Amino acid sequence: MKIYNTQTRSIEEFEPIVEGNVGIYACGPTVYNFAHIGNLRTYIFEDLLRRAFETNGYQVKHVMNITDVGHLQSDADEGEDKLSLASKREKRSPWEIARDYEDAFFQHSKQLNIRKPHETCRATEHIDDMITMIEKLFEKGFAYTAHGNVYFDVSKFDAYSDFARLNLADQQSTDRVSFDENKRNQVDFALWFSDSKYPHQIMKWNSPWGEGFPGWHIECSAMSSKYLGSKFDIHCGGIDHIPVHHTNEIAQSDCCHGNQTVNYWMHGAFLTLDKGKMSKSENRFITVDTLIEKGYDPLAYRYLTLTTHYRSELNFSFSALDSAQTSLKTMRERVLEWRKAHADLDRSVPIQDTRAIEFKNKFWDSVRNDLHLPSALATTWTMLRSPELSGEIKLKLLLEFDSVLGLSLDNVVVDQLAPDEAALIEERLQCRQSGDWTKADEIRQELEQRGIKIKDTKNGTDWTKL
Ligand code: AMP
Ligand code: ZN
Repeated sequence: MKIYNTQTRSIEEFEPIVEGNVGIYACGPTVYNFAHIGNLRTYIFEDLLRRAFETNGYQVKHVMNITDVGHLQSDADEGEDKLSLASKREKRSPWEIARDYEDAFFQHSKQLNIRKPHETCRATEHIDDMITMIEKLFEKGFAYTAHGNVYFDVSKFDAYSDFARLNLADQQSTDRVSFDENKRNQVDFALWFSDSKYPHQIMKWNSPWGEGFPGWHIECSAMSSKYLGSKFDIHCGGIDHIPVHHTNEIAQSDCCHGNQTVNYWMHGAFLTLDKGKMSKSENRFITVDTLIEKGYDPLAYRYLTLTTHYRSELNFSFSALDSAQTSLKTMRERVLEWRKAHADLDRSVPIQDTRAIEFKNKFWDSVRNDLHLPSALATTWTMLRSPELSGEIKLKLLLEFDSVLGLSLDNVVVDQLAPDEAALIEERLQCRQSGDWTKADEIRQELEQRGIKIKDTKNGTDWTKL
């Protein structure tokens, strides 16, 4: 597997820490609202990464946190805790809000065929681990207190600006650095917030520094090392995390453990809406439910994300989604057609056909080449259209490819017609026989709206139902 490592800004051959294994940590959702389809693009990318390793024979341990406290309005130390804001907005307890949006997140992920991480960990259930880590940072001289708040002293970590190629001299008060008179240096960041800064915070805990709540960055450092160890393979997130969240995570984790914690950093590019940011805080966003309400299959959105490489921005449009839905439908129709024709398909028999093996190799080479799904998808279509392959081989290849594409093609079943649907097909046949083409056409349209596609043959009417 070759993957792009943000740390080195280059594509590298993946070398696991333990042969045959890979540990992946993904920054999870902040559960103060629905995840939008932009957030979910990042989770689809992480799902593809996991599937790519699994299909290449690796044992994957995929860990994801749930941010249910500590993420402020800005990714730096400014504004209110997003869960507190949501609590005011919805006039409900932040605990209740967090659980509801967490459930919605997993529901939407499932609808997009995103595999559930092996370990999901809530920040609010790991406060002790965070406190222990902060204590270690104190012992090692990287932390200091001011008015009950605890800060990381950036001046003690020489490599701080390396990851994001930051120019700290210009950053005394920018988006990633907020002014706080308690800080020794404005680039320092909070590990623990106290009552002195947030007197009205609802979610708070006792700590050696007084009551308060953890900073967002320490959550990921504490939970990633708890579940994957003080040195692990891959850490992922969206590109917005590079300059603040992941820069701060590296500082905390590497200083606490005394070694480079993460071997490969991978970041997914943004989904944009009308070329602008899709953003929960600005209420400019689309959810999986919006797509369903508009009549789309959530997997059409998954398909759409496969058409752009994960490191390139993808501008969302409904017309692009329409094309994705049509392509997905065509794939499903093919599967149905071949399923009917090859009901006894034995997938365990290896493919011998040399042309088929070429397609197979090309597909998997693209996947192994830094998850190049757009070219893997292009190979899939060339294969499907190839006049040289039998339907049976195409079906086998397509189902194999779907182990990474994740379009649920294996679940497309040869369905039964409901009695009224069978009656419509019969009525249409009679209309055709009596020359009532207008009525026959109307019935065809009605059937299509119900997901039934028909084909007239010399023996009657053939149908497929999606
Ligand atoms: P959040 O719930 O805001 O903590 O974000 C969850 C994940 O979504 C993070 O990995 C972000 O980097 C990522 N993300 C946020 N906005 C977008 C977007 N428009 N497109 C793709 N990923 C995003
Ligand atoms: Zn994180």
